[in-house]
Amino acid sequence: MNQQPAPSISLPERARQVIPGGVNSGQRNVPGLADLVIARAQGATFWDAGGRQYTDYHAAFGPPLLGHNDPDVAAAVAEAGRTLDLCGVGVTEGEIELAETLAELVPSMERVLLTSTGSEATFHALRVARAATGRRLVVKFQGCYHGWHDAVSMNVISAPDRVGRRDPISTGILPEVLDATLVLRFNDPDGVRAAFADHGDDIAAVIVEPVPHNVGCLLPDAEFLRTLREECTRHGSVLVFDEVITGVRHGLGGWQEIAGVTPDLTTMGKAIANGYPVGALGGRADLMDLFSSRPGAPVFFAGTYNGHPAVVAAALATLRKLREEPVHEHVFRLGDRVRAELPPVLASLGVPAVVTGYGSVFVTYFMDRLPKTYDDLLANDTGMFVGYRRRMVDQGVFELPLNLKRSHLSYAHTDADVDRLIETTEAAVRAQL
Ligand code: PLP
Repeated sequence: MNQQPAPSISLPERARQVIPGGVNSGQRNVPGLADLVIARAQGATFWDAGGRQYTDYHAAFGPPLLGHNDPDVAAAVAEAGRTLDLCGVGVTEGEIELAETLAELVPSMERVLLTSTGSEATFHALRVARAATGRRLVVKFQGCYHGWHDAVSMNVISAPDRVGRRDPISTGILPEVLDATLVLRFNDPDGVRAAFADHGDDIAAVIVEPVPHNVGCLLPDAEFLRTLREECTRHGSVLVFDEVITGVRHGLGGWQEIAGVTPDLTTMGKAIANGYPVGALGGRADLMDLFSSRPGAPVFFAGTYNGHPAVVAAALATLRKLREEPVHEHVFRLGDRVRAELPPVLASLGVPAVVTGYGSVFVTYFMDRLPKTYDDLLANDTGMFVGYRRRMVDQGVFELPLNLKRSHLSYAHTDADVDRLIETTEAAVRAQL
């Protein structure tokens, strides 16, 4: 029987009584923030239920590149709500336009299918790669995250003693599924060549975040991405760029356009719909045409909400704005300011720190040199990383206080926000020393 909560019970307590842990994702289970109830979000700001205001650099792990509740996106979604609804049959003109737009923008995308999340997109990418090659193994890299499904649920943020070993992020995964994924080192072309020399005939796919933003930011060496392309081509394996974060945020053509390396398949999500639940999978026509959306094709593909009109409207409005307004110019300029102005401030405090990132993404590691591989990141001072961010949150500047998480700028952030970010960081780091 439903019971009305007693008025004395707080919202977080109510949440914990009925939602395990009180939040709807393991990634929202953040020490120190168990009582955070979000009440409103607009532009670069969100407010909690107590009326406290936060300048948001967490950005929901990345979607709102235009800022929260962008007025053009909100208007497009409202219009879709007035005129359309999910019918689950046929296709809408918006879905066609969105696929055409992504195919035009992203070099590898000859065909495009929509999903509701990035995890679904990476799931289907690996399934079709196995179907096309008839092979078993998937290669991923330490530090990369590709969603919650079994084949990739391992070796993201691993403790030092788990690096170089199998490190599942969940229990409940069949050992034979874990065994079918090889974990290699990012930015280690020799390791990739060696794995292909040993297992090349059985590697169905290599999946990679071209910039592993799930551990902050490891910038890829040109040789590394080229080696992935060469080895996959030589051995007939499918190269998947997981551009769920990098796609659109770093450039309309994704990292593949920046790097000049074209994968066979690309997954996207997050920023392409500015916060509405979306994923996209695109790539070589011969691979994409294996999906069962095409009559008689063998690789099952479905999803009740795929191509939801509200999401498609959000994506079209987002992409239109990204093409028509100087969004990238703005967020890149602010990101460059953070990366240029924060290091001397931290140096003046005598703290070993590096500020890195790309474009709108920035992260401060507490170590003395730029990391290239996940192993390098083990030198990051976790206590400092999490500690200064907790102090920032107390001051209303929200960088997620979890180890190695990146921060994001949006079109809604201003130079005054960056000034305050730098001042608050200085005070928070000083207090943490
Ligand atoms: N791929 C990357 C690179 C991601 O960062 C994420 C989510 O953070 C995913 C895939 C999974 O996307 P979703 O959370 O929408 O399922």
